[in-house]
Amino acid sequence: MWVYIEQVGGQVADVSLELLSKGRELADTLKVKLGGMLLGEGVEPLTKKLFSFGCDKVYVVEHPLLKRYETIPYAKAAAELIRKENPQIVIYGASAIGRDLAPRIASTIRAGLTADCTDLEIGDHEDPVTKEVHKDLLYQIRPAFGGNIIATIVNTHGWPQMATVREGVMAMPDGNNGHQGTVVRFRPELTIKDVFLKLLSEERKEHTVNLKAARIIVSGGSGVGSKANFKHVYELAGVLGAAVGASRAAVDKGFIEKAHQVGQTGTTVRPALYIALGISGQVQHRAGMDESAKIIAVNKDPDAPIFSIAHYGIVGDLNEVVPMMVKAIRKRV
Ligand code: FAD
Repeated sequence: MWVYIEQVGGQVADVSLELLSKGRELADTLKVKLGGMLLGEGVEPLTKKLFSFGCDKVYVVEHPLLKRYETIPYAKAAAELIRKENPQIVIYGASAIGRDLAPRIASTIRAGLTADCTDLEIGDHEDPVTKEVHKDLLYQIRPAFGGNIIATIVNTHGWPQMATVREGVMAMPDGNNGHQGTVVRFRPELTIKDVFLKLLSEERKEHTVNLKAARIIVSGGSGVGSKANFKHVYELAGVLGAAVGASRAAVDKGFIEKAHQVGQTGTTVRPALYIALGISGQVQHRAGMDESAKIIAVNKDPDAPIFSIAHYGIVGDLNEVVPMMVKAIRKRV
């Protein structure tokens, strides 16, 4: 059971740590070891952290041509290692890098790949035609048809079974469990001919919105009405020390930037408190926030679907309700 460990500049991506928690669970179910596949140059010191997040073995693939992420050399090196070790399962974060790398590896080694899973489980599968039973397959679970059904996909045609998994859907494990593991070093056969790009300069823009790390999120939807009226969302978020989220409709209407979008094609969040203002609660929005510990919804339509998952619902006009909430919170702090 392997997890691709994504690192940029020596920083392990959060999604890889999230996947180690799921990977640990799957490895224990299968009674196999949990391996991390770590590519780069000078990355071996990261193995200590990976052991503490549950890895039993870390395959360290180092080469000067892997200093920076680039599709072809990374895919070639990873495919070489996978061919050598023949893991049963390999999972990747559905990040920009994971979405680029995993399909390239899949096509190189002729493996299947399910993109953008929201859950993974182990189970048996009976072929409906041949009645052959395949034991202990990876159930690759993801929304399909615009989020209207949840599909479970299996690969009965050989190893490795591969999937990319959305960021933020698996819980972030506690990384201090004193777990120990072993390092397996692998030197890939790469030459300069495998590098097709010349990097002229690097421009970095830091994320200004970190929804995944927020304990409280106040999200506005199309019901907020305008960009100017998003001041209500910001004001409530301000008094609560919360991050600001949004529905896709609010983003599409230009009320707020895409980086704030929560949902199937936005960020998946699981804060302690999620407040939905003027959001109807369509399945694609709910897919990104229904794991929140507490949900409060404000909507003027008593039949809005958001109320079916809200712990507290306020039926009313957000233009009246939010200022009252802000006033009440200010009085208490
Ligand atoms: P609406 O559905 O228009 O709802 C607005 C709500 O505001 C209504 O319930 C209304 O009663 C209420 N309202 C209006 N005025 C007020 C007021 N003054 N006070 C209180 N309440 C008021 N959506 C996402 O959010 N995230 C995604 O990631 C996402 N991905 C998608 C992917 C696909 C493939 C598809 C097909 C769709 C996706 N969508 C996504 C879109 C989704 O289907 C909905 O269209 C969207 O979530 C609706 O946003 P909304 O609730 O803000 O708007």
